[in-house]
Amino acid sequence: MKSSAELRDLLDRIDRRGYPAYKETKGIYQFGGYALCIDHVQGDPFAAPSKVSIHIAGKDAGFPKELFDKSWKRIMLQDYLLRQFYRAVEEYSFRAKGSGKSGLLAVSRPGQEILERSACQMDASNGNLILRMEVGFPANGRTVNSRELEKIFFDFLPKCVKGNLFYKSLDAGILKKNANLAEDQQYIREQLKERGLVAFVANGAVLPRESGVSKRPMKQAVAFKAPASMEVSIQLPHYGELKGMGIPRGITLIVGGGYHGKSTLLKAVELGVYSHVAGDGREYVITDETAMKIRAEDGRSIRNVDISMFINHLPNGKDTTVFSTEDASGSTSQAANVIEAMEAGTKTFLIDEDTSATNFMIRDELMQRVVNRASEPITPFVDRIREIYEKYGISTILVAGSSGSYFHKADKILQMDCYEPKDITEFAKAEAERYPLAAEPVPECKEPDFRRCPVQSGGGASERGGSGRGRGNGRRGGDAGGREERVKIKTTGCDTISLNKENIDMRYVEQLADNEQMTSLGYILSYAGKHYFSGRKSIQSIVEEISGLIGEKGIGAVCEGSYLPSGLCVPRKQEIFACLNRYRGLRF
Ligand code: ADP
Ligand code: MG
Repeated sequence: MKSSAELRDLLDRIDRRGYPAYKETKGIYQFGGYALCIDHVQGDPFAAPSKVSIHIAGKDAGFPKELFDKSWKRIMLQDYLLRQFYRAVEEYSFRAKGSGKSGLLAVSRPGQEILERSACQMDASNGNLILRMEVGFPANGRTVNSRELEKIFFDFLPKCVKGNLFYKSLDAGILKKNANLAEDQQYIREQLKERGLVAFVANGAVLPRESGVSKRPMKQAVAFKAPASMEVSIQLPHYGELKGMGIPRGITLIVGGGYHGKSTLLKAVELGVYSHVAGDGREYVITDETAMKIRAEDGRSIRNVDISMFINHLPNGKDTTVFSTEDASGSTSQAANVIEAMEAGTKTFLIDEDTSATNFMIRDELMQRVVNRASEPITPFVDRIREIYEKYGISTILVAGSSGSYFHKADKILQMDCYEPKDITEFAKAEAERYPLAAEPVPECKEPDFRRCPVQSGGGASERGGSGRGRGNGRRGGDAGGREERVKIKTTGCDTISLNKENIDMRYVEQLADNEQMTSLGYILSYAGKHYFSGRKSIQSIVEEISGLIGEKGIGAVCEGSYLPSGLCVPRKQEIFACLNRYRGLRF
C-alpha cells in the first residue's frame, strides 16, 4: 500500500498531461483511518466515471459487534451508513470542476427497502467496512486537472468518510434503534412461520404512498387497523407488544368497493417480502418471503412451461404441457406466471383482479351454460385455487371487487371499507350458500413438470463480445464495467434489462424494488450464460446454485471482473427465476 503523500505527488506530476495519465493512479493509498482504493480509472472525462472504494478496518470503524452480529442487523447497518454517506457525498458532487463527468461523486441511494448492496459491505467476522463509489476524475477538455481531483481525495472525501463511516461520529442511539428494528422485523418473519401466517400488517401501519411517483408514506393517511377476528399480538424483543392483522395460510379474499384501499393493501403485502426503513409506515408489514405477485402479462415470451393445469386443447393443437410462445395472451401469460412461481418455490400467491386476465380468473355461470366446457381450453384459477392450496400448500391472497365466484373458495373474506378491513367471512359465506356454484367438478390436475433445462441460443450473454461500457440509467450506472471480457448490461429503471442489446422486459415483475437488483440480474444472467446454460441443468438447480453462491460469497460471486461494481443489489431467488423466464435468448 502506498501513502496518501505518494498519491499527492503522483497527482502533481500528471497535472495537465493527457487524460490517460490518470491510469497511473490505480492502486491503494493509506489515508488517516482508512484506505482509498482506486479500482478502475475511466478512459476519458466523458466515459463512465472511475471506480473508487474506501476500506476501513473493523477496529478503526469501531462499530460494536452487536450492531452487525446477525445478517439482518448487518444489512440494516450497511444500509444506514450508505444513506448517511450518500447525503454527505451529494453535497460535494460537481464541486470539483471540469469537462464531462469531472467532479461527479456518486454512490448508491437506497430507497424505502433495506437491501444488501455492493456499495456498502461489512465483514461480519471482523467489522471491516468497504464503501464503493464513483468519481469523475476532473479534466479540462481532455487534459488531466489533478488539482481538482486533489480537492476530492484530500478534502471532500475525507470529510464524508470521517463524518459518516465511523461509529464515534454517528448517533449511537439511532444505530441502536435501527438494529432493534431489524431484530423486530426478523422476529415477525419467524413468527409468521411459527403461527401459520403468510403476512402480518401492524396496526398503525401507513400503507398508501405519497403519490404514484413517490415511495414516501402518504401524509394524513388512514392508519391500518386489524379487524378484531384477525388481530394477532406479537411480543417483539424490542418494541414490546405489537398488534396487527395476521393473514393465515389458505385463501384470503379481499373485496370492497372501488377506491377503498384494496390494491394499496395488496401492494404493501407484496413489498413486505423486504424490510422497510424506520419512518416508512410499512416497517411492520412483513410477508412470507417467497410470496409472489401473479398477474397477466400480455406479450411476454414463454418457454416450455407446463400450463396444462389451466389450459388444454388449444384450437391450434399446441401441446400445453410444454407451452412456448413469443407473444403470450393475458390468460396464458398469467397461467405461466403461476406455474413458474410454483417452480420458484413460492408459498404465497398475491393476485389483484385489476391486473389479471378475467378469463383466467373466472367463468361465470351463464357463460358456462352457453359455451360448454369442451370448447373452452381454460380451467380458470377459481377451479384450481383450493387444489393448489391443499395439494401444494400454496396460499393465495386475492383482491376481487367485481366477481363473487371466489366467495365459495375462500377461507377468509375481508372487506376494505374506507381503508379499514372488516372480516365479513361469515356473512359472505352465508350469502354464497344461497348461490351454489353450478359448475361441474373439475378433474384433478397432474403435477406440473419442472424439468426445464435452458440452453443459450444465438445472441446471448456468452456469445457476443460487446465492447461498450454501459452508460447507466440517468441517476447512476446500470454499468457493467470491470469485466475482462465485457458484457454490456444496461438497465432502465425496473423496466428493462438489456444484455448485449437483447432486452428482457421486467416491467410486470412487480416485486423488484430497486434498479440495482436489475443490474445484478444482468450479471447473474451473464454468469449463468457462461457456466450454466448448457442444457444439462434444470432452471431450478441453476437458480438454486447461483443464489446459494451469492448467499455465501455475496453478489460479487457473479461478477467476474477485476473489481466489484458499486451499483449492485441482491435480488430474491424469485426474481432470478422471473428474469431467466423472460429472457428470449434461452431455449429449453
Ligand atoms: P382499490 O384497489 O380498492 O380501488 P386503491 O388501493 O387503489 O383502491 O386506493 C385508492 C386510493 O386511495 C389511492 O389513491 C390510495 O393512495 C388511497 N388510499 C389507499 N389507502 C389509503 C389509506 N389508508 N388512507 C388514505 N388513502 C388511502
Ligand atoms: Mg384496485
